[in-house]
Amino acid sequence: MILDLEEKLKSIRRKEEEEEARKKAQEFGLPYLNLSTYFIDPSVVSIVPEEEAKKGNLAVIKKEGKRIYVAVKDPLDKNTREILDKLKEQGYYYNLVVVSPKSLRKAWSKYQEIIPEASFIRQIQIDTSSIFQFQAEIKNLNGLKEKINELQSQPISYTSKMLELILTGGLQTLASDIHFEREKNRTLLRYRIDGILYDVTYLSLENYKMLLSRIKLISGLLINITDVPQDGSFSIKLKDKFIDIRTSCIPGLYGENIVLRILNPDLIDLSFSELGLEKDMLKTMEKEIRKPNGMIVNTGPTGCGKTTTLYAFIKEINKPNIKIITLEDPIEYRLEGIVQTEVNREKGYTFLKGLRSILRHDPDVMLIGEIRDKTSAEVALHSALTGHLLFTTLHTNDAAGAIPRYIELGIKPNILASALNVVMAQRLVRKLCPYCKEQITPSSSQLEKIENAIKNIDKQKLKLILKTSNPVSAVKNGKIKLYKAKGCKKCSKIGYKGRIGIFEMFVKDEEIEKLISQSPSHIQIFELTRKKGMRTMYEDGILKVLQGITTIEEVERVAGSQYPLTRRQ
Ligand SMILES: [Zn+2]
Repeated sequence: MILDLEEKLKSIRRKEEEEEARKKAQEFGLPYLNLSTYFIDPSVVSIVPEEEAKKGNLAVIKKEGKRIYVAVKDPLDKNTREILDKLKEQGYYYNLVVVSPKSLRKAWSKYQEIIPEASFIRQIQIDTSSIFQFQAEIKNLNGLKEKINELQSQPISYTSKMLELILTGGLQTLASDIHFEREKNRTLLRYRIDGILYDVTYLSLENYKMLLSRIKLISGLLINITDVPQDGSFSIKLKDKFIDIRTSCIPGLYGENIVLRILNPDLIDLSFSELGLEKDMLKTMEKEIRKPNGMIVNTGPTGCGKTTTLYAFIKEINKPNIKIITLEDPIEYRLEGIVQTEVNREKGYTFLKGLRSILRHDPDVMLIGEIRDKTSAEVALHSALTGHLLFTTLHTNDAAGAIPRYIELGIKPNILASALNVVMAQRLVRKLCPYCKEQITPSSSQLEKIENAIKNIDKQKLKLILKTSNPVSAVKNGKIKLYKAKGCKKCSKIGYKGRIGIFEMFVKDEEIEKLISQSPSHIQIFELTRKKGMRTMYEDGILKVLQGITTIEEVERVAGSQYPLTRRQ
């Protein structure tokens, strides 16, 4: 009874508050609003920082271009006027509405739902005039080595030129990373190009010391701290585009090592059709990425291109009427028209917190990084079951491995079974340079490998992909074109240029769903999906060999040998 009474009193007080606000509005000739059922976009509230809004007893509740609607308790309050003046200075035109304290509290509660702005990268520009000059001069890694050594023999005041040269070399050769590895009396400079590390040259200790300071400075790192790992970033402006560089500095035995990751949009910004998905897979994925809910998982080790593939998927479906939000760790590439957020542990924005925040924004499609804990998995899978399409990645060797991995994480097999739509795995193989690849006569062992690989592939699919009437007999009779890598100016004498994905994937059907819900082993899933016609990454790679895109050695290098099942146990 007493509780009842308290409730009644509260409700009377609330009514009185609303009544007071209404009267105040009348007094000033302003509109009155009850915000209890009014939709407020958190990003609009955030126009005024939380602390200021509370101090000024106001909240921005609506925005139309530069016009904003500000809810206030008292239009004459000194603190309120102060903030309104500030908004005017920022170029906003405001309309006032009078609200009750309760309504204001409701508006302020929206601050909890704001997704932290992805703190991408410090925009420090380095002098690029010489970059263009170097671009014309550097033809291959040897040329770069000569140029660096020439600079090294000159006075140390050439540090910034040296850095520009090293960065230009990285851009010219389409390197993904530049490594500085400190040894006892010198530092080794290496580039990672298409997944493989190439030694470029050695830097003297004096030169490296200056370079290290310069890189730390422009990356926003603490120069005098040398015994803890530090991460930073800067960017290079080239004509009309920015190239972001992430700097990672790690203490080593003889001093600090640096890795510069070059986030070159040309390397990451692939379209759906350029990924390397063969016709049959393209057709499947065209359908799957347009489904309204469920989960699409892409698996593989670090650097296998799985995020790039998922980026291409969401770019393909990105339209103004679809809301797409990402939660990444970290953001690897900026996508236009898509809200990207980033895990930030230092600021307490964990993966789980991020996941809950982005769900409050009611996206249609989400792309999230690897799920590593049970609670995040539960939240993510629940969203995939309730009207969201979820893209995510996982570190496993192959597609089948995703199932036991998720179950080990603590996901209930029947929930996993209903949430999953597609599981993929991928690797990247280097593409033969089209300018210098050389046709070879296939050896008997090469023909045998190819024969073994394609005999498991559905004949109709083979015809569709290879565009020949009888691919199996063509291989039997040696009537196929194979190529080897040679090397020319266009490929920095490497013989390969660029990479392409090789894939395996299975789409869930009733039978697979039933097996997943019984908590199957890796082998059980592998065998069932094979029975249903899944080809392995290796087999998919052989199809690219037969199309003259890459070589058998390259496929074996990244995907192992033909009989993967023995590796999988
Ligand atoms: Zn070439």
